[in-house]
Amino acid sequence: MRPEILFSMFKPITSLKGIGARMGDLIEKLAGPHVVDLVWHLPSDVIDRRHAPKIADARPDTIATMTVRVTKHYPPHNKRQPYKITVMDDTGAMSLVFFRGRADYLNKILPENEIRVISGKLERFGDGLQMTHPDHIVTEDEAESVRRVEPVYPLTAGVSLKVLGKAIRAAIDQAPDLPEWQDKALMAREKWPTWHQAITHVHAPEDLADIDPNNLSRRRLAYDELLSNQLALAFVRQQMKRLKGQPLIGDDSLRHKVINALPFKLTNAQNFAISEIDGDLKSEYRMLRLLQGDVGSGKTVVALMTLLTAVEAGGQAAMMAPTEILARQHMESLSDLCEAAGIQPVLLTGRERGKSRDAILSQLATGAARLVIGTHALFQDDVEFKDLRVAVIDEQHRFGVHQRLTLASKGQAVDMLVMTATPIPRTLMLTAYGDMDVSRLNEKPAGRQPVQTVLISNDRMDEVVSAVSRAQKSGARVYWVCPLIEESEVSDMAAAEDRYDHLRAIFGDRVGLVHGRMKGADKDAVMLAFKTGELDILVATTVIEVGVDVPEASIMVIEHAERFGLAQLHQLRGRIGRGAEKSTCLLMHTGNLGEVAKTRLKTMRETDDGFVIAEQDLQLRGAGELLGTRQSGLPAFRLADLALHGDLLQMARDGSELILRNDPGLQSERGQALRILLNIFQQDSSIKNIRSG
Ligand code: ADP
Ligand code: MG
Repeated sequence: MRPEILFSMFKPITSLKGIGARMGDLIEKLAGPHVVDLVWHLPSDVIDRRHAPKIADARPDTIATMTVRVTKHYPPHNKRQPYKITVMDDTGAMSLVFFRGRADYLNKILPENEIRVISGKLERFGDGLQMTHPDHIVTEDEAESVRRVEPVYPLTAGVSLKVLGKAIRAAIDQAPDLPEWQDKALMAREKWPTWHQAITHVHAPEDLADIDPNNLSRRRLAYDELLSNQLALAFVRQQMKRLKGQPLIGDDSLRHKVINALPFKLTNAQNFAISEIDGDLKSEYRMLRLLQGDVGSGKTVVALMTLLTAVEAGGQAAMMAPTEILARQHMESLSDLCEAAGIQPVLLTGRERGKSRDAILSQLATGAARLVIGTHALFQDDVEFKDLRVAVIDEQHRFGVHQRLTLASKGQAVDMLVMTATPIPRTLMLTAYGDMDVSRLNEKPAGRQPVQTVLISNDRMDEVVSAVSRAQKSGARVYWVCPLIEESEVSDMAAAEDRYDHLRAIFGDRVGLVHGRMKGADKDAVMLAFKTGELDILVATTVIEVGVDVPEASIMVIEHAERFGLAQLHQLRGRIGRGAEKSTCLLMHTGNLGEVAKTRLKTMRETDDGFVIAEQDLQLRGAGELLGTRQSGLPAFRLADLALHGDLLQMARDGSELILRNDPGLQSERGQALRILLNIFQQDSSIKNIRSG
């Protein structure tokens, strides 16, 4: 329930004076639907209108606010000409210019012989000065409202600075004084203003320092946002943990059989992750752990050990992948691994239908099936388990928190392990997975050959093709990744098709094509042909990014590599270097690279450590833009910029833990204020249940 004190902040923006339905729609797209969203819409620049020269002293290309007498109107002779109005002061004359100006309107706001204060950008016109469409035209009485520093906001087509600025001022005017939710000692130490002072200040900048993201007001607001995020996650975490589970203890019988049959020794990182997981399973609280590791770091075996524990204890285990093809791949590799333990996993995806689906469902319901691998199909309402104890979710970033919870609800206190191959910088970890414990596989299995990465200019295509040709003749398998052109699958596809035709003319039917527009089954068929060696060269858009395992592939060409983000390049490159073969990644790029693109490609050449790359990515791009923020489920912040406010995030993490320890029900005076904080950032759903606790 929303506290009454916030009612005015959550009215629709159309409740503000002067914002009708149409303007409301436009502003909503820009900022959001509520009055409070305007408060969060921060200025990105300032216009200083304090400069008030006489006409003789005024300079072109400056912003000036001038007091002038209107001398004469010159309506245009035809529609293409502008409407001109001359003005003067005691030092000289100049003109005002209006394209498609309406005479009645201009006569009303600029009547001849009257004094007006105008503000706008000056331009040179012949020997004189002119101002086209002044930003402000007011009478002398109103001059004070103009002669000041004006915030500039990010705009969108159809929304002028004037209208938006006014709406934002109205939003600030109706913002209430809120009780302080921040710790008093922290406020004093950081010298932070109150919430109300902070929002007033950030929207009334006097100079550039006032829009610096690291000034006191902006830091305070950023901290508010981060604290609400961390506090909400802390509550989710506490609730998940409070759901008591049965301690899950295996007898290692199945695990031993599997490990003994492995053709390799587990790495230290794998062993350590398994021991962390065992600690969680044994405890009476439920596990909620993220297993992070680069592609090829060996997450599957760790997952299997987790799954087997449930089976050893007499329960069931499920592993869920984001796509059909990945589920099938897991099915294949886990079936092989499980053979030694005498266990046969079952598969449940969208493709199992009718009788075969019914059979699987009944095996799950009776408990006959101990280990199931599948896709989203595992979530469906009619899927019931006899005793689901462990759920492993692969490739986390394709699933949302909500789905995490749905699978968990399929059993009593299911222990959950989430796996991701997207290395996430430590700072971002906290914002997205603050509710989870984390294990990292930061060590590559022994015997892996590092991938050699070469930068090469796009115009050396012929050399690349002949290198690929040589490699193909000696039996190599090649990924050829086509560039992202725009945010459009259609044009990506066109580029891939062109390249496919080009390579096909050279390599014949050894070339295949796979792109995001293809049907699942068609895609799978092409991938399979590449995997089995029917195809040597696979032209692809980024659909190969996720998971598919072809250890024989040892060469990757990425065209226009400068158009990809670092994380994405890393992810792509992880598709090769998985076998014993020496692997090469060719990053093709345009001749004139920008600084950021140059740094990105250099980073790729110098390291293959996913965690290093992720940190670098954060530095280069800013957290808001990190690749696929949306799909990845990483929250988008409006006031905090993690590339700049990383220190605040750690503080917020610590702060929220302290709050939970001291006042888990948010009952104290500060606790009540914190409820308002959660509410104003719409994080309150996480505390729905805390009153009872
Ligand atoms: P991930 O899922 O993390 O991308 P996988 O679990 O698919 O990686 O492992 C990649 C490959 O490495 C598989 O072929 C697997 O058998 C192998 N592998 C896993 N652990 C080790 C290890 N400790 N030593 C050698 N090879 C390993
Ligand atoms: Mg994997």
